[in-house]
Amino acid sequence: MAHSKALLVLENFIGGKFVPCSSYIDSYNPSTGDVYCKVPDSGKEEVDAAVKAAKDAFPIWSSKSPLERSQILNKLADLIEHDLEAFAQAESKDQGKTITFARTVDIPRAVYNFRFFASSILHHTTECTEMAIMGCVHYTSRAPVGVAGLISPWNLPLYLLTWKIAPAIACGNTVVAKPSEMTSVTAWMMCKLLEKAGVPHGVVNVVFGMGAKAGEALVCHPDVPLISFTGSTVTAQRITEKSAPHCKRLSLELGGKNPAIVFDDADLTQCIPTTLRSSFANQGEICLCTSRIFVQRGIYSEFLKRFVAEAKKWKVGNPSDPTVDVGALISKEHLEKVRSYVKKAQAEGARVLCGEGVDSLALPTGNQKGYFMLPTVIAEVKDESCCMQEEIFGPVTCVVAFDTEEEVIKRANSVKYGLAATVWSSNVGRVHRVAQRLQSGLVWTNCWLVRDLNLPFGGMKASGIGREGAKDSYEFFTEVKTITIKH
Ligand code: ADP
Repeated sequence: MAHSKALLVLENFIGGKFVPCSSYIDSYNPSTGDVYCKVPDSGKEEVDAAVKAAKDAFPIWSSKSPLERSQILNKLADLIEHDLEAFAQAESKDQGKTITFARTVDIPRAVYNFRFFASSILHHTTECTEMAIMGCVHYTSRAPVGVAGLISPWNLPLYLLTWKIAPAIACGNTVVAKPSEMTSVTAWMMCKLLEKAGVPHGVVNVVFGMGAKAGEALVCHPDVPLISFTGSTVTAQRITEKSAPHCKRLSLELGGKNPAIVFDDADLTQCIPTTLRSSFANQGEICLCTSRIFVQRGIYSEFLKRFVAEAKKWKVGNPSDPTVDVGALISKEHLEKVRSYVKKAQAEGARVLCGEGVDSLALPTGNQKGYFMLPTVIAEVKDESCCMQEEIFGPVTCVVAFDTEEEVIKRANSVKYGLAATVWSSNVGRVHRVAQRLQSGLVWTNCWLVRDLNLPFGGMKASGIGREGAKDSYEFFTEVKTITIKH
């Protein structure tokens, strides 16, 4: 049996070659609690080598036509899609998410990220104006920036990493990517496909390791003029500080404390299943997940009764079981943190209606040491409570009552974050009014997580700086120049 326990050992991917590292970090399977993988513990030396490789590859890659780059991106998409099942299995094992979610959301979206930017790069135009009186025409030209530093989190590993790599290289930049040290496997698998896709050596380099060491070395590197980061607000503050001496261009996609507002004319047959998904999908580990549900008083009791009854039906267990709805949380520490919020809410007098501490969780024998938690619904929480203010990032949602439109807008906006909000109502006028006034980069009405990648994605307030999407990513990953010609 010894061979079945052999650890998977990852290597950095620098200049088109896999390179071993001198030290490694343990990576856990969250559904069993076992160490199953060794991730390079890279630092400045490895990052320097990767940046050099990216810099060397830049002249060739940036001089290719958009069409040539597009064909390579499409080929890479095809190769990932061909191995979709292997990628999905690996993502589920590494992150704890259900195999169903990895198969239907994570990996298909990673494929689509490459296809989308392969197409969108062909359709941008620049501006031109005439100034006849001066005998001049002005036009803008856009060029890739150089070596892009890309730092991604552990919740949607390949999905979010490719959301950065695809636009960066489509625009002609070369990249050094640093995935989360907790979920590095699918990025490493993708590196194995790059050569076959025709990505020249050095265009995509991946350095694995800790944020404070490898991530920070990338942020501080003088030859990396641009950083695209998705992660926590605290880390973003650190990145902003560390990159300030170099005046780097930053795109920061951060956390949320997203409200769902349910008016009394909402269609509950649509609203309840969608709000369950928006609260508990991917174990609640998505920055777009709902964690504050405001329900108008007339339907509050009915909503709560139906919502809790449905939440109890969500099956928690082995992520590789296709009938399971909730997998394992990312780590023991994170599970403890999420649980501690439920305890704090109870101590403050809130009512836990189902889940943590209320219902018992039966796990299969092999998963007893995994980091599992039941979907948890909390009611009667005060707006000032940490459960209503801080990002919990787990399967925990709070439900509270409201009376008027004016009141709920104020309460929904009364947090430091501003990423995504959801509004449920059949009154078109109200939907528009409320959407306009919510401090939120994204507002979904009568739906959740329906995305058109053409349009801007990003948050307000502590949820981020900058937007990404077809046009926004193009603008972020290119440098614009205004040229004036006198004739
Ligand atoms: P989370 O709290 O969701 O784990 P983090 O912001 O800590 O989010 O991590 C997101 C990504 O940022 C990870 O790849 C992590 O390694 C990286 N990271 C963490 N700290 C730093 C840092 N000081 N500089 C650069 N990257 C960092």
